[in-house]
Formats: sequence, structure tokens, C-alpha cells
Amino acid sequence: MILSNVLWLSVLLQVLAAFMALRLIPLTGRALAWSILSVAFILMASRRAISLLRANGTIESKWLTAMTTEVVALLISLFIVIGVFMIRSVFIKKRHDEDELLKLTQVVEQNSSSTFITDLDGKIEYVNQQFIERTGYALEEVKGKTPSFLDSGKTGRDVFMKLWKSIKADKVWVGEVCNKSKDGNLTWEKERVSPVKDSDGKTTHYVAVLEDITEQKSQRDALEYMAMHDALTDLPNRALFYDRVYQSIVNAEHTKEPVAVLLADLNNFKVINDTLGHHIGDKILKEVALRLRNGIKRYDTVARMGGDEYLVLLPGVDKAAAVKIGQRLSLLVQKQFVIEGHHFDIGMSVGVAMFPEHGDDPDILIQRADVAMYSAKANIESVECYDSEQDGHSVSRLELLGEVRQAIENKQLCIHYQPRLNLHSMEVEGVEALVRWNHPARGLIYPDEFIPILEETGNIKLLTRFVIENGLQQLADWQVKQPDFNMSINISTRDLCDPTLVGFLKEVMKTYEVPAETIIIEITESSLMQYTSYTETTLNGLDEMGVGLAIDDFGTGYSSLQYLKELPVSELKIDKSFVMNMMDDDDDGIIVRSTIDLGHNLNLKVVAEGVEDEEASKLLQILKCDYAQGYYYSKPVEPEEIDILLSGDDRRLAV
Ligand code: C2E
Ligand code: CA
Ligand code: CA
Repeated sequence: MILSNVLWLSVLLQVLAAFMALRLIPLTGRALAWSILSVAFILMASRRAISLLRANGTIESKWLTAMTTEVVALLISLFIVIGVFMIRSVFIKKRHDEDELLKLTQVVEQNSSSTFITDLDGKIEYVNQQFIERTGYALEEVKGKTPSFLDSGKTGRDVFMKLWKSIKADKVWVGEVCNKSKDGNLTWEKERVSPVKDSDGKTTHYVAVLEDITEQKSQRDALEYMAMHDALTDLPNRALFYDRVYQSIVNAEHTKEPVAVLLADLNNFKVINDTLGHHIGDKILKEVALRLRNGIKRYDTVARMGGDEYLVLLPGVDKAAAVKIGQRLSLLVQKQFVIEGHHFDIGMSVGVAMFPEHGDDPDILIQRADVAMYSAKANIESVECYDSEQDGHSVSRLELLGEVRQAIENKQLCIHYQPRLNLHSMEVEGVEALVRWNHPARGLIYPDEFIPILEETGNIKLLTRFVIENGLQQLADWQVKQPDFNMSINISTRDLCDPTLVGFLKEVMKTYEVPAETIIIEITESSLMQYTSYTETTLNGLDEMGVGLAIDDFGTGYSSLQYLKELPVSELKIDKSFVMNMMDDDDDGIIVRSTIDLGHNLNLKVVAEGVEDEEASKLLQILKCDYAQGYYYSKPVEPEEIDILLSGDDRRLAV
């Protein structure tokens, strides 16, 4: 019976030992159980041994009792010592852990950052003085609460989810949160949450250290905003637009919906900007931004691409709807602008490109919308959709722009010269300089294709200077053979606003020793319609130098006679469209005739261009037109051909 008790007990002890090994019983309990059970076991074991020995009669009972008592006492004291030692170590550990936490709170208290300590459920146990000052809450108000009372609602839910995931995995979490103080103030804080471990390596608390980053964050946000927005109009910029198009394409790939990209470009803006100043130009750009923004839905994007170009992103909109929206936006921009008492009419041309039909990346879509916009401009339409056939002929405007700049640098531009005849003597008295671009891959490109781009992008100045410099050098060469040989040079509307043009021309004339009377500067009639104080300064400057001034393409614009009287003009060039048709079209004939009369009445020389046959040439002679130019006499030719003409005795062209 007793034996079975002992066995029973030893089994129990085995189980207990296993539990201890598995650390399922807390350390204090383990130590106590170990002491009690050990004592009980030894007592029982020794009593059993004594009774067995006594029954066998092998031992004197008195002596035996004494010995047993000794052994038992020894063992008991041994086990008590072990037990006490264990219990003591448990208490020491507990004290140590408490000391550690105390030390931590002292460190935290000294910490200049706002700090709080929570238990494993996130309930606050301790906050430091900084925390109290920053949040306005006292320790009693927050003790036992989770820090969710600090939440401003501005921190994303995912942030908190990540926080908990991280600290539950015993990892330190660092992130940014927006906290609300007791008085409702919001503070952006960099929060660092670390698990606090006991000496066994078990997490007992979490400590959160918060650093105020409101100012840094607002600076950073402002920088980020600036990097992604246009400073003038506050619209998203090109970079952000790219990003949005990219996101829309990613979404559209799932939803199988189309995405429309529109590129809109203002008409006439450059002229207004150059002549009335950036101050007015900026106001117009802002107003356009506002009109476009109001013309689209909230989840669509309108961005400023730069200059007077805007981009519109319409996710989920098909081609027909995109064209309609483009037309609507164009109408919005057509409404008259009234700025500082000035009235402006500004049109807008829009190009549309569709995902997935025309491309599947932002770059291609914008480029194709650009091709479509350029075509809309050329066809005087408000909106055009991309058509791959157009693209075969017209290189993207943006692409071309980059190349033209290089072309000037790499000397790919060249000048051809078209002879100009005196219709009385039928002798060549001069030439008109006409620029060409000798493109390495596309061959000779004519000015109508690249000059409008240079004008629009403000790069025409480079070209004008190239023509003046090279043209006058060439003219000086020809004047060795014929001193009064003259040259007409075309300048663009934008050159009229360039205050350095006159000075530049003067310098080049001096360098090559070309007399002013042998230079004629041609300005189109339409550019004179944008007549301003700048234009006047440039024209007067040119006049003072003694160079001639011709009004080119005369008849296509609507210049008033008053202008013609006031401006220092020396000749009129009848537009070739009238001259080319004057034999078949009575109206054109009348225009040519009356222009010659008008010119002569105003004491101006008259030039007819576009003379393509003998009849036209003869008629112009009869009408007493002064000069003529045209394919009938000669196409624009390379300078070597003019060399040949000038080296002969007869300056008359063989026609
Ligand atoms: P524009 O000043 O009216 O030049 C005359 C244009 O008519 C030239 O075209 C010339 O080749 C063409 N032409 C001449 N005779 C005839 C003819 O009998 N029949 C026909 N059908 N055409 C004729 P091009 O060289 O293509 O130049 C086109 C325009 O490009 C010029 O028109 C001018 O406005 C501009 N341009 C040319 N060179 C320059 C330049 O250096 N600077 C600037 N700003 N513009 C230039
Ligand atoms: Ca011309
Ligand atoms: Ca012309």
C-alpha cells in the first residue's frame, strides 16, 4: 500500500518535472512545489525504509529511529535551503525587473520626446512630462486607456495595422502619425514603438517615443507639392500627369475601359504674352486653368504641360465622348477674356489620343495627342483625334523641336536664294534668303514645317540670327561682283519683340561691311496686325539704320491704311496666292492691280511673288509692278547658282 503510494508520488513528481521543463508553471510556484513535494517524498521514503528494516528485524529500533531522524532532518534542511534559494532568486528577479522598468521610466522622464509606456494590451501605464505638456492630458486621465484617444483620423488605418503587426512580432516600429491633443491641435509625430523585455527575454511592455515633425512634414509636403504642381496655375504638372495616366492605364487593364488623353494648346497666346507682357500672359494662363478645371469632372485631371499647353486625362471615357469634351473645353476657352480692362479672344486646339487604341504608355499617348493637336491647328479645327496616317507625314512636334535646336547647332540648316527681278530691266537685282533644313534622315525640310514650331516655342531667335549671319556673309561675297546686289531676309512676329535684334543686325552688317540700303527685312502683314510699342521700337530701329522694310504676304491680313502710312515701310509684297491665280480669277486680278496702285500712291515699291508663267510676268510689267519673284524665273537655289549668275555679264535670267 505504502509502496504504491511512493510510486504514485514519484509519477506525480515526474509529471511536475516535465511541467517545469516546459515552464508551464510560473517560477515562484515551481520553487514552492519543488520544496514541498521533495520534503513529502523524503519523509515518506524514509518512513517506508524504516518500517521495512524493522519488520526484517535487521536493525535496532532505537538506533534506527535516531539515525532516521538525523537523515530526515539533514535532508529537510537541505531541501529547505534549496527551496529558499529558489524562492529568493525568484524575488530577486522580480525586483530586478521592477528596477529595470523604474530605470526605464526615469530615462523616459528625462527624455525630451513625448513618451508613453503601455502594457501588452496597449493600455497606458505611464506617460512622461513631455507627453503631458504636448497632449494636455494628465497621467490620471490616460492611465489604463489605449492611445486611440490621440487619433486625429488623419493617420491611415493601414499605419496602425502595420504598427500592431510589427510589435506583436517583437519588432521595433517606426512611422508617422497625426495626433490630436486635448485642445484639438493636430501634431504630426514620428513614432517609435519598441517592446520592453524582461530578463527572460519576454515582452512585458511597449514604449512609444514621439517626436514632433509637424514643421518638417509641412516643409516636405510643400516640396513634394511643388515638385508635382505648376506654380503659376496650381494645376498638376507634367510629372504628376504622367503618374496619373500610368495609374489609369493600370486600372483600365483590369476594367477594360478606355482612357482618353487630351493635349490642348492655346492659339495666339505667344503673341499676347510677348507684346502685352508676362503679367497679362500669366493671368490668361491662370484663367484658362480655371475654365478647364471647371469643365471636367472631379476625378478627371487637368494639368499644365508648360507654356500654353495643357493636358487632360479622362479615365473611362471613349473616343466620341472625349472629342465632345474636347470641343466643350475649347468653347470654354473661346469665351472672351477680360483682363485689366483688355479684351482677348483666345482659341484652343485639342488633340485626342486613346488607350489602348493609340498607345499603352503615357509618353506615347501624350506624343500622339500632340500630333493630333498639331493637325487640328493646321486644319483650323478645335479638336482632332489621333490618326496614324497623319503621323506618317508629320513628325511629332516635340520630337521635331528637339531636333531643330540640334540642327542649328550642328549646322544642318542651309539657305537657298530666290532671285528677284527688276521688272523694268528684267535683271536680277537681288535675292530672297529662304531657309531649309537639311535633315540627315528626312532630306530637305521646308520652313513651313518647322518655323511655326520655333515661333511657338520661342526658339525662332536662333534661326533668325543664323540666317542674318550667314546671309550677310554671303551677300558681302556677291557684292564684290555687284556692289548694289541686295538681299531680303524674313523675320518672324516674335523677332519684332526682340529688343536685341537691331543691335545684332548692326553688328553683323559692320562685320561683313554690308551697306544698309542693300538689306530688306520682310515682315508678314499678319504680324503687323499685332502691332504694339515693341514692334514700333524695332521697326523704327531698323528704319534708322537705313535698311528697307517690306510687308510680306500683303493682302492676306487686314492692315489698315493708317498703319501703312505711319510705318517706315519701303515695299509691299503681294501674296503669291493672288499672283498665281490672277489670270483665271478676276477678283485676284483686281487685288493685284489695286495693290500695285495703292503701293505706288503711298510711294512704296511693289513686289509680286509667285510668278509662275510668262503671261503673269507680262501682265505685271504692263501693270507697272516694280519687282517680281517666282518659279517662272527661278526657284530658290543654292548659292553656287547665284555665283554663276553674277559671274556672267548678263544679269537677266534665261527663261
Ligand atoms: P515667303 O516669305 O512668302 O517666301 C516665299 C515662298 O514662296 C517660298 O517658300 C518660295 O519657295 C515660294 N515661292 C516662290 N516662288 C514661287 C512660285 O512661283 N510658286 C509657288 N507656288 N511658290 C513660290 P518657302 O521657301 O517654302 O518658304 C515658305 C515660308 O517660310 C516663307 O514664305 C517665309 O514666310 C518662311 N521663311 C522662309 N525662310 C525664312 C526665314 O529665314 N525666317 C523666317 N522667319 N521665315 C522664313
Ligand atoms: Ca518673304
Ligand atoms: Ca510671301
